[in-house]
Amino acid sequence: KWFDIIEQKDMQARITSQAAGLKYLESPPKKPVFSLSWSDFKKLPLEDSLQKFEAENNKNVTIDIPEAGSAVAYQALKDFTKRLKDYKADRDLPAVDGTSQLSLFLKNGSITTAQIICYLKLTGKNVKTEDSPTRYLKELVWREFYYHILYHRPDVEKQAFLAKFRDIPWKNNKTLFKHWCEGTTGFPIVDAGMRQLNTTGWMHNRVRMIVASFLCKDLLIDWRWGENYFMKMLLDGDMAPNNGGWQWAASTGCDPQPYFRIFNPWLQSERFDPGAEYIKKYIPELKDIEASEIHDPEGNRGTKYPKPIVNHSEQKKHALVLYKTT
Ligand code: FAD
Repeated sequence: KWFDIIEQKDMQARITSQAAGLKYLESPPKKPVFSLSWSDFKKLPLEDSLQKFEAENNKNVTIDIPEAGSAVAYQALKDFTKRLKDYKADRDLPAVDGTSQLSLFLKNGSITTAQIICYLKLTGKNVKTEDSPTRYLKELVWREFYYHILYHRPDVEKQAFLAKFRDIPWKNNKTLFKHWCEGTTGFPIVDAGMRQLNTTGWMHNRVRMIVASFLCKDLLIDWRWGENYFMKMLLDGDMAPNNGGWQWAASTGCDPQPYFRIFNPWLQSERFDPGAEYIKKYIPELKDIEASEIHDPEGNRGTKYPKPIVNHSEQKKHALVLYKTT
């Protein structure tokens, strides 16, 4: 009978506010829109529906789905404490297991940023310090920052945060996009990243930055195409950090990298995967090729691996024109 009580109170409020000459705001629906008792609930064919859903969708799942839940998340956090001291040095090396890999658990709610901060005792840090725990805290803060952006500027879901970059005349070549998605661009570090994504549902942060920059500033494709593809493939796909990461790389976001700073994929792979271990892990065609050949734009990478689909130096000039003329 709770709705009868609300109805009576509502009527009183209406009379009082009208008498005082105030505008009365309608209250929410007075009767429950949906009511279900436990016995009704047990009759629902939920188990059947779940099985049907699984049968229909399992065929689309091409990767191993990791275990979820707070116990697994807590264990992952505990394991990371051993690696935290080296985080600053290792976090940029995709061949090293240097990051926490907690993004999936954060995304699905198995753990929260506050729990991580508390467990790792990251409160009271001076953000000007550059030790590993502070560096880690700063990454968690990036996530929160992007949530704030999305909350206060929900339009970023559809368009660039910076108005001056909303009408970039992207080339949007579908064949080039397909090569990017499939990891067959002929740029080893880009292809390794995309193949890691396609086969595991996760990609290392450094490589996410490289492939995102490559899509926008080498292939001249709209960042939203990449953002969508990431959301489709990532197990940690999360609108706020994904949109923030893409807009950062495309230089269209809040506090992005400047548009004229264009990653050179050859130098990036040489610097962050010097021995090409990461590249070879995901591109078996290159397993017998010397690292020096892999990082060289003119290198001999054998016959099984594709030639680069674009020339980085040429594309960089086109990108600068696109950004300047918009
Ligand atoms: P760690 O290095 O261990 O960092 C710890 C946590 O901090 C992460 O789990 C994450 O929650 C947060 N974090 C770390 N780096 C960033 C960052 N650059 N921006 C925002 N938060 C960060 N992260 C997602 O969770 N979901 C996404 O869909 C997503 N898409 C991205 C797309 C692009 C183009 C880029 C450049 C970055 C994206 N990121 C995304 C951020 C980052 O790549 C991942 O959070 C990180 O790789 C997850 O691995 P980790 O948990 O081992 O990170």
